[in-house]
Amino acid sequence: MAKYVFVTGGVTSSLGKGILAASLAKLLQARGLRVTIQKLDPYINVDPGTLNPYEHGECYVTEDGAETDLDLGHYERFLGIRTTQANNVTTGRIYSTVIDKERRGDYLGKTVQVIPHITDEIKTRILTLGQNNTYDVIITEIGGTVGDIESLPYMEAIRQLRLELGEGQSMVLHLTLLPYLRAAGELKTKPTQHSVKMLLEIGVQPDVLICRTEHPITNEIRRKVALFCNVTPDAVIEALDAPSIYEVPLKMAREKLDILVLRKLKLRPPHRAELSSWKAFVHRLNHPKHSVRIGLVGKYVELKDSYLSIVEALRHAGATLETRVQIEWIHSEKLEAGNIESTMQGLDAILVAPGFGVRGWEGKIQAIRYARTTGLPFLGICLGMQCATVEFARHVAKLKGADSTEMNPQTRYPVIDLMNSQVGVANKGGTMRLGSYPCRVQTGTLASKAYGKTKTIHERHRHRYELNNKFRERLSEAGLRMSGVNPDLDLVEMIELPGHPWFVGAQFHPEYSSTVDRPHPLFVSFVQAALQNHSQRVH
Ligand code: GLN
Repeated sequence: MAKYVFVTGGVTSSLGKGILAASLAKLLQARGLRVTIQKLDPYINVDPGTLNPYEHGECYVTEDGAETDLDLGHYERFLGIRTTQANNVTTGRIYSTVIDKERRGDYLGKTVQVIPHITDEIKTRILTLGQNNTYDVIITEIGGTVGDIESLPYMEAIRQLRLELGEGQSMVLHLTLLPYLRAAGELKTKPTQHSVKMLLEIGVQPDVLICRTEHPITNEIRRKVALFCNVTPDAVIEALDAPSIYEVPLKMAREKLDILVLRKLKLRPPHRAELSSWKAFVHRLNHPKHSVRIGLVGKYVELKDSYLSIVEALRHAGATLETRVQIEWIHSEKLEAGNIESTMQGLDAILVAPGFGVRGWEGKIQAIRYARTTGLPFLGICLGMQCATVEFARHVAKLKGADSTEMNPQTRYPVIDLMNSQVGVANKGGTMRLGSYPCRVQTGTLASKAYGKTKTIHERHRHRYELNNKFRERLSEAGLRMSGVNPDLDLVEMIELPGHPWFVGAQFHPEYSSTVDRPHPLFVSFVQAALQNHSQRVH
């Protein structure tokens, strides 16, 4: 039977529960245990697909087409596993399931209540992952902060589950903050005491406290926290700020978090921790031999989490090539013909990001036009590829006023148009083309060089619009190469420009599947092109 680690957070948000959960999972996986992570989000949206990135950062997409919290991206990148819809559940989804059941008559005659109906549904979602003996350990991260009204049903579900699962079958790990008061020159423990008190009021005793801190914690503080929070001093773990998220597993290993967890769960792992490839990755990341500057053109650049998977995929690729990838954030709304050249100065490549809506669209077109005409390596993802198609149609194929119907429904040349399957779709939630689809890569293209032997690739999608097949011939004749096509639906998935050093557009999102162990080939090829461009410019 799978054992459970529940991860809760106290004092403030943004303490890094997702990274902590992923780090613990990594350490257990490194000892040969089969681990997965689940995130329970206390908001009412059925999934984060309908949220603006400014709300919760990027929307991550799984192979099975679930639109999920960005923490699932961390889980996949750290563990090299694939997650599914079951790995991310929101309050909205829980309620909508319970309300559907009520309408069907499943609870006929009964008053439907938070306890037991909502808590039962939460427990079912937690236990489902543990069935079929697929995992030894399931780490369930509860979003939000202890004390939030929204997270109460989750805490109650954990309290019940711990009792039902029995001794040694589950544990609670509470991530908290020890703020440093400069005037007093001290780390303060009171907020942590309060947040644990709140947990205790609900009937949940944490087994381990992980304390985020800017300064090392002394034994005295450790003892104090332990005393007031009802745990042993060895269960108070220091989590000093780390220079990169990839160092957190190594830090937690030094703090012996994994050993503590194994002891509490009475688990014997198959072997000792095997972290050499992880350490090698961190070493490459920290000791680059080269450096490139890549412009990331998007309209959500104020919030870096909006493009989290892209940033991490660039880092993975950079580490592979022993190259530091310095990202220059470029706001697409601020780009215009007059400032394009100065903005692009000194960049070794640009990446045009995914997105929705017309804001910043023309700025992206300007950036792509510059990259196309000057030989600057370019990667366009999803909207970035659509934008490259429009730029090419307007300026090379001479289809004046060509556009995407998302931006201009009246355009004479709708080179990007709504997919047939999307016409008439009114609901916004979960109705895009989502999840993994196959794509045949044409031989002799940049794409096939990047992917190597694999002729049919599988990549994840999240979009409503596509390259309009009615314009395929005209665009091809003008020199646009369709280097990847979906064999079943006959949709163009990749484009490139013969004669340009590196110009690739992908309708799918390669960034979602890049992991520490397997950096994405397209990103590696892109960073390599940036590196080549850099050395040519310098020499
Ligand atoms: N807005 C575009 C579409 O829906 C692109 C989406 C994206 O970049 N993820 O097709």
